[in-house]
Amino acid sequence: MKDLVPLTHFKDLGLAKPLLTALTEEGYTTPTPIQALAIPTVLEGRDLLGIAQTGTGKTAAFALPILHRLAADPKPAPRRGCRVLVLSPTRELASQIAESFRTYGRHMGLSVAVVFGGVKYGPQVRALAGGVDILVATPGRLIDHINEKVANLGGVEVLVLDEADQMLDLGFLPPIRRIVATLPKKRQNLFFSATMPSEIGKLAAELLVNPAQASVAPAATTVTRITQQILFVETDRKRQLLAELFENSKMDRALIFTRTKRGADRVAKYLDGAGVKADSIHGDKSQGQRERALAAFKAGSVRALVATDIAARGIDVDAVSHVVNFDLPNVPESYVHRIGRTARAGADGAAISLVADDERGLLKDIQKVTRQTIPSFDRRNDRALGALAAVEKTTMPEKAHAPRPVQGRGGGGGGQGGGSRGRRGGGGGGRPSQGSGGHSNQARPATGPRQIASTKPAVRWNPVD
Ligand code: AMP
Repeated sequence: MKDLVPLTHFKDLGLAKPLLTALTEEGYTTPTPIQALAIPTVLEGRDLLGIAQTGTGKTAAFALPILHRLAADPKPAPRRGCRVLVLSPTRELASQIAESFRTYGRHMGLSVAVVFGGVKYGPQVRALAGGVDILVATPGRLIDHINEKVANLGGVEVLVLDEADQMLDLGFLPPIRRIVATLPKKRQNLFFSATMPSEIGKLAAELLVNPAQASVAPAATTVTRITQQILFVETDRKRQLLAELFENSKMDRALIFTRTKRGADRVAKYLDGAGVKADSIHGDKSQGQRERALAAFKAGSVRALVATDIAARGIDVDAVSHVVNFDLPNVPESYVHRIGRTARAGADGAAISLVADDERGLLKDIQKVTRQTIPSFDRRNDRALGALAAVEKTTMPEKAHAPRPVQGRGGGGGGQGGGSRGRRGGGGGGRPSQGSGGHSNQARPATGPRQIASTKPAVRWNPVD
């Protein structure tokens, strides 16, 4: 596989004028690394293996050259079929991809349809009947349409497989192989995955012909702009600690991950009760509920969105300030996906994981896979937890109990992220420990129960600014 040389301006990439106009309207000036690498190769018609996680701009990396190629070779879309097929693991991601195609292609007059489960068949059948230029689909529902002879993919010119590693996790490899078997042999294949487990490598080798490779982050490394932190806490006090974190005004749009759907609902309810506007999103929610929750989160009227891994896959919201792992994921790679929801499109972000004793094995796996030691703080036995809203500033001088765990923005420690990998040993009082084995015990001294009487702001320990 040949290495590709990146370009630095969209106009250098040779994209059609209507695309450049749409990009200017969107405020995009410079291609992201995956775009600079991938766009020229896709324009050439070559197959591509893209190793990039969400947040790197990978959607535009395939959508822009595909739109260019369709417009350069105009022809009617095949009946009941499409010219471009994009397979996505989740409905949210499918909707986001379709939205991106519509946005970038808004001056080109091409048609885009999206097909996923959990909604009625009728509108999808009607959308497919006349044929569409670009079809974005989740594998399960697309198979239904193929079986019902509603979809015929014999005219596909380009196949995109997005988030292939998630497809594997969700058990979609057999349906993908079935779908691919119905496609013409001669086609362009674009394959994207954040990580490259061996089964995905095998699938890539099956599908791709002499591909170029564009890789913007080694498999299973975490995005370096994200400041990460572990807070050790007892399971039954996680919710209190979570609510406490929201007293940091910089935590204005937080995505919180739980392992279970019920857990997501419980956490959202608790936060709402604690005065933090929250909603949850998971597989038991209807499509309408999910879309409404996502829209409110995007608009900023909901500050906390609590999600399960699968539901969160397609959440493309700029300016997620914090990702909180309320539970650690069972699969270490999911940690990388989760925290990749913050620090998108060049912004900084913070990821905080609440870790109970029985999750230390999972933490160890995560640190091994991501090849890092995440700074950790011990909030166990912190009797102040959850009672702090009552603490008046005057009664609790900040320096007495406020360790500064990670380089604080104002503390001269280099700022959050800021391209520095050395996140340990931040300024101020507290010193993070070096990993799960030897966490520091420098959390705020216990203050004992206090009367909840004051409406004055409490003195806060904001673990991540
Ligand atoms: P993705 O990795 O495709 O999910 O994209 C992450 C986010 O980056 C999306 O919100 C895009 O709108 C945004 N984005 C993609 N490419 C660019 C670019 N070249 N300049 C600015 N923002 C971009």
